[in-house]
Order: sequence, then C-alpha cells, then structure tokens
Amino acid sequence: MLPGPNYIYRCPLCDTLYSKYSLMSGNTFGADFFSDGRYFARMLPEFPIITKCFECTTIFWLDKTNEIGSYYWGEKINKEWEEAFNADFLTLNDYFLAFEFHLPRTIKQEIYIRKRIWWKMNDSIRFKEELPAYENENQLWSDNINKLISLLNSGDDDEKIIIAELHRNLGNFDTCKKILDSIANPKYDWLKKAMTKACKSKNKKVFQLKK
Ligand SMILES: [Zn+2]
Repeated sequence: MLPGPNYIYRCPLCDTLYSKYSLMSGNTFGADFFSDGRYFARMLPEFPIITKCFECTTIFWLDKTNEIGSYYWGEKINKEWEEAFNADFLTLNDYFLAFEFHLPRTIKQEIYIRKRIWWKMNDSIRFKEELPAYENENQLWSDNINKLISLLNSGDDDEKIIIAELHRNLGNFDTCKKILDSIANPKYDWLKKAMTKACKSKNKKVFQLKK
C-alpha cells in the first residue's frame, strides 16, 4: 500500500479545515466482497468524496472547489493543517439530506450518493443478518433503487451487473436473469453464476461472494 498526498479542504460555510488521505496504490488481497459491489479491503481503504462539517453541519464535496492544498507524509506543515479534522463518510440520513440541499449536480455524483444509500441500507443485512430497518420504509428503499437503475448505463457490462443486482434486490428475479444472460464479458461468469443461483432460490438479499 503506497500512500498518496494528504488533501486539505475548507468548509465552505465556517472555514473549518478537514484532511483526507489518499493512496497511490493498494490491493484487494484478503478483502470481503459482496454481491452489491461493496467490498472491505484492509489494503485498499475507501475515502469519502463528500462529508459533513462537525461545526456547522454543512454537507460539502471534497473536491477542487473546497480544496486548499495538499502535502506528503513527512513534509513540514503549519499548525492549522496539522489540526485539521479527518473528513468522514456521511450517515444514511445525511446522504438523503444531500438531495434536499441539491448537492448532486452531475449524474456521476447522483449515482455515487444513491449507491451509498443502497449499500448503507444493505448493511443491516450484511452485518447483522436480520430484517433491515427499511422494511418499514419500503418506499425509500425501492424509490432509490429504481432511480439508480434509471441512471446506470444499460449498454455497459460493468453497469449491467449492478442493474441486475438491483433488480434481484427488488425481487425481480426474471429481469435479473435476463440481464445476467445479456452480459458477455467472461470476467463476470462466476458472479453471474452466484447471482443466478440466488435468483433460483428467490433470495433477494445481498450476500457475501466466495470465489
Ligand atoms: Zn462548517
């Protein structure tokens, strides 16, 4: 794992500073992979691209607009940068709030947020193996999934595999199988097999992948 630069961002409302690490390279050796595309890799951690200010609760993108500089490990930096807070991931509620504040300005940003909402909602199954809390909020769950399906590119194998999984989560097993059958890229063969098996047993929940 090779560290990249550390970036410093400024909250656009109250000027509080935040820092974010980055990686030049990493790997997914020993990682846990899930059918919804989420993975947990010690050697390839993910960093947030949107965060919330502790001081004023503003939600903002960790992008060029709010970036004020960067430095490498070992480089001498000023006290202000040294004391910057670590930028954290948003909570499920905050991802929904990001839509209320009209933060996604591009399709890519909307896909990023909708995917995190989907993953966060799947986490209750992933980690606790119990009925998800959103069973009571079925509309939020399915609305998000349907919007995500409409945003993804149905002509691209990398996105088709996600669309198929989204349909499986909704219980649309026939649609899921049809999409899986249309994916030509052989790198997805083992994943197609695992998802087809889940469809056959009418399992719509996220599951851990075992190669
Ligand atoms: Zn702030």
